[in-house]
Amino acid sequence: MSIRIKQLNKYYGDYHALQNINLQVPTGSLTALLGPSGCGKTTLLRIIAGLERADSGELFFADDEVSNLHVRERRVGFMFQHYALFRHMTVFDNVAFGLQVLPKRIRPNKAEIAARVHELLQLVQLDWLAKVYPQQLSGGQRQRIALARALATRPKLLLLDEPFGALDAKVRKELRQWLLEIHHQLGITSVLVTHDQEEALEMADQIVVMNQGKVEQSGAASSLYDNPENVFVTEFLGEVNVFEDACIEHGQLCLGHYHEPITTGEKARQNVAVYIRPQEIQVLTHIQDNVIASACVEEIHAIGAQIRLWLRREDNNQRIQVWLSPAEFRTLSLQSAQTVWFRPQRLTMFRLPEMVDYVI
Ligand code: ADP
Ligand code: MG
Repeated sequence: MSIRIKQLNKYYGDYHALQNINLQVPTGSLTALLGPSGCGKTTLLRIIAGLERADSGELFFADDEVSNLHVRERRVGFMFQHYALFRHMTVFDNVAFGLQVLPKRIRPNKAEIAARVHELLQLVQLDWLAKVYPQQLSGGQRQRIALARALATRPKLLLLDEPFGALDAKVRKELRQWLLEIHHQLGITSVLVTHDQEEALEMADQIVVMNQGKVEQSGAASSLYDNPENVFVTEFLGEVNVFEDACIEHGQLCLGHYHEPITTGEKARQNVAVYIRPQEIQVLTHIQDNVIASACVEEIHAIGAQIRLWLRREDNNQRIQVWLSPAEFRTLSLQSAQTVWFRPQRLTMFRLPEMVDYVI
């Protein structure tokens, strides 16, 4: 079921917590609301769920305006970071709860409930734990049971608020893949709140980057990562080196010794900030044309699929992060304290103060 939000606003007293939010969530997609703590993600999710009311704006599920629909009538499943299971109930009873509290006319009978609970426990691969109590479960198992509970009433929407936030990194990574499989298997529409950009990039079909109550940019993960529209999105979505000593003059971008023709309508010199992702920096062991500067190799972290280097630029001492593939690293055969030269393979720039951007 698709979600459409138009011009939505929410205030807490004088505080404008959500500002003119417009958003579309396609049916069957997994959309991530991504942003720093306090930007309004949970508030937006709670408004979608019907746990909170917006002050203005419209909210549609498919073609129906649902702003006045009670939470029980919205057919959404929730899972929160601290959505504790009922301690005094077995896993089975926790999962069955949502069905047992349905109004009598639509409540399944006892046998149907039991069948549904076992089906859900199989889905989350914990059928063998039906009779145990929550204290006997690991953190990861608890969240899997919480998901089974959220799905009990066959919701059309699944709303997840930092569901794995309290778990350790390894379990979190496993559960992400597991949740993604379930999302696809059920064909459900899901909205995931997270402040973790890696989680959003790994899981979401669509990412909505939020900041201070506003949507900064939304789109497919790759389009946001490669074509960020502003400084906030550039910096929030992945690592990036910022070069503030750049300018545009005489139709050229100039950064250190690097020049690149660009078309701008304006003739006057403008200062710009250039953003280059660590994997978009080319390292050279001999000086060549059109390098930004020379640098000293300060640190080499040669572990895993990505070799991470820190360079120290020799003209201004700036530290620069570079990621190489093991093959590139072997070809260069870099040593600590060696002098190298570097240039961009791809860059994004923003005028200072931020106005228009270019990607080269
Ligand atoms: P996030 O989930 O992105 O961390 P929230 O949606 O929880 O952010 O909160 C957004 C802002 O609204 C925060 O500044 C928070 O302090 C404020 N806020 C959230 N809930 C309430 C509330 N019930 N009363 C007053 N302020 C609130
Ligand atoms: Mg939150």
